[in-house]
Amino acid sequence: MRVETFLKRNYQLHHVIVIPHYDDEIIGCYQLFVDAVSKPNKAGNDSIVIMPVFCGEPGVVESDSHRRQESLQAMVYFRSTLGKDTDNIGICAPISLGALSSSILGYICGTGVRSSTKLNCIWFPDPLYEKHPEHILIGNFGPLMSSVATQNNPASNNVLFGYYSINMQAPYVQPLSCKEADGKARVCEIFTSQAGYFSSHGEATRFEGRRLA
Ligand SMILES: [Zn+2]
Repeated sequence: MRVETFLKRNYQLHHVIVIPHYDDEIIGCYQLFVDAVSKPNKAGNDSIVIMPVFCGEPGVVESDSHRRQESLQAMVYFRSTLGKDTDNIGICAPISLGALSSSILGYICGTGVRSSTKLNCIWFPDPLYEKHPEHILIGNFGPLMSSVATQNNPASNNVLFGYYSINMQAPYVQPLSCKEADGKARVCEIFTSQAGYFSSHGEATRFEGRRLA
């Protein structure tokens, strides 16, 4: 059973997906978007915020503006094709690596989280299985933030930390059903700037999985 399916038995989920690059949210977490827009539970839909983090010079972010547009188009696709024009998925402004820990701490200590009846899930690239240097670098904030949160923050019992991987060799990554794989491939096609990646990494559209910290 998927970890999110297990969690949803009792809670409405609010996801924060930390991404080093636009498209990582789809490669690693496509199923979370499908759930959020198309599978409401009694309490209402799950919600998702994508948190882009950049490691390099400011100019790199500017060159990412085209890729950001692709991620925004993917959100429109989810809403218009699978959902009922919901506004429960979105992308925040990119933050620098230096601001990542304060952004996450600010989030988990915020009144929104403390008073929330939702279970908050913060997803990082998996520092154990990722291969891209920026994924490893940003992913290593996951265990750090998780330990800081559990030691210092009384609100942390409604915050969970988890990991996704774009490395489809990670042990918890599983084949998707044909229907899911077709849907994921369609969303990946929106990322035209990454067509070369997807043609040489076809497995990225056919597999997926996450683990909790
Ligand atoms: Zn990436």
